Amino acid sequence: MQLIQHIINGQHTSGVSSQTIAVYNPALGQQSAEVVTAVVEDVNTAVAAAKAAFPAWSKMPSSKRANIMFNMRTLLVARQDEVAETISKEHGKTHDDALGEVTRALEVIEFACGITDKLKGNFSRDVAVGIDVTDERQALGVVAGITPFNFPAMVPLWMIPMALACGNTFILKPSERDPSSANLIHQLFAEAGLPPGVLNIVHGDKVAVDALLDHSDVKAISFVGSTPIAEYIYQRGSASGKRVQALGGAKNHMVIMPDADLDQAADALMGAGFGSAGERCMAISVAVPIGQETADKLVAKLIPRVEALKVGPYNQTGNEMGPVISADAQKRIKGLIDQGEAEGASVLVDGRSLSVAGCEAGFWVGGTLLDNVTKDMSVYQQEIFGPVLSILRANTYAEATDLINAHEYGNGTSIFTRDGDAARDFAANIEVGMVGINVPIPVPVAYHSFGGWKRSIFGAHGIYGPEAVHFYTKLKTVTSRWPTGIRAGAEFTFPTMS
Ligand code: NAD
Repeated sequence: MQLIQHIINGQHTSGVSSQTIAVYNPALGQQSAEVVTAVVEDVNTAVAAAKAAFPAWSKMPSSKRANIMFNMRTLLVARQDEVAETISKEHGKTHDDALGEVTRALEVIEFACGITDKLKGNFSRDVAVGIDVTDERQALGVVAGITPFNFPAMVPLWMIPMALACGNTFILKPSERDPSSANLIHQLFAEAGLPPGVLNIVHGDKVAVDALLDHSDVKAISFVGSTPIAEYIYQRGSASGKRVQALGGAKNHMVIMPDADLDQAADALMGAGFGSAGERCMAISVAVPIGQETADKLVAKLIPRVEALKVGPYNQTGNEMGPVISADAQKRIKGLIDQGEAEGASVLVDGRSLSVAGCEAGFWVGGTLLDNVTKDMSVYQQEIFGPVLSILRANTYAEATDLINAHEYGNGTSIFTRDGDAARDFAANIEVGMVGINVPIPVPVAYHSFGGWKRSIFGAHGIYGPEAVHFYTKLKTVTSRWPTGIRAGAEFTFPTMS
């Protein structure tokens, strides 16, 4: 059985604990590896390595750090198939979908290649006679990232390039369910010229996370995962004096106006609802057609599309989605569909009994379409995080926007319409962080930043892009005077620069 180890100070190590967690190939439903789990001592070793690497790394000219990002970009482009294979083997998503994940990660590295420009400070000459003010942004120190299973390469690479380019050293605690991508990312960074200790990978579960949250030498935590854990990370990390950004779960709605191109909307819903088996924080899980006629027409277009979904293992070409991540996830998703049906939803396409020939033990859930979902149902209130699309029929545009604004999550949303006025009103007034106009999955490009609203985020900063530069640096402002000689006498009034 393959053993996936920590990487601390450039060295693979099993650490002091002999405990491991099973890693699965979800398409086969079989264990493929085991990953070591860190205890407090292992986290302490990693933090010490990152702390020791910080002075030299943070003092390295930012252009030299950027050179390593350029090298990393070249390596990741050359080896994207290998990275995609590593993702799919443990996650289950199709090869093309995994390549898409790598592409979005590359965009963040490309943004980090331009870090010299982003770290330029501001300067004001003569704020008073002979007094100048400079501000600059300095690295925080050791920072840590805790990441979810659903994007095992992209989400770590939302964080690592920006944190490192800003001059910090980093500890990644990846998901224990698909940990191999993190080690491959480390290997590529090492080949790109990153010195040992600048990036460290610590595997494990809550024990490792709590040790990072409590360690006084860890200055900031970036978290992406489910909302209950995001809230916990934010509270515990902040209580120990850290800067914390914690991105949580989602329930993303798509509003389909009566004037929308319904074929385009149905195709968009297929990709956004069922791509990656619905295991995306930006997946559309609720379609809100306006008016019964729009709803009936949309449903008629969706049923054959959902029935025709090609589901199977990542290494068989032509598949549109793979399995879900684990037996537990499969059970939970099927249980939620049962509950939705019991609460009165119509199951128009039922994926609960899907079996894939040759992979019968895999964690399969077929594409599922639920109609007549209402806002009091558990399938509406909870994040399902599986291949289940709910139709919630609304009579008016205002009813749809009220629904979205009242939901506890506010990660992403979209509207399909040909009406500029409706689109403009939606963009301005909807209480959601990332909005698509005829775009189903509005994930911002890397030179903008990513972040939801409401209980989809805890902390003040979005992730990657310009927000990341602020999150991973602290502001220093220097007010200076170079007098020709020291002037006589102290001043006791508050300085006004006048
Ligand atoms: P998760 O919250 O179960 O796990 C995320 C990380 O937290 C993992 O590294 C895990 O080991 C750790 N963790 C789990 N339980 C913990 C605990 N009790 N204490 C401390 N650490 C703990 O999330 P997941 O199932 O891996 O990922 C799916 C979730 O992530 C979904 O809710 C999805 O919406 C969300 N997500 C959000 C975004 C976003 O940008 N908002 C992006 C991707 C995924």
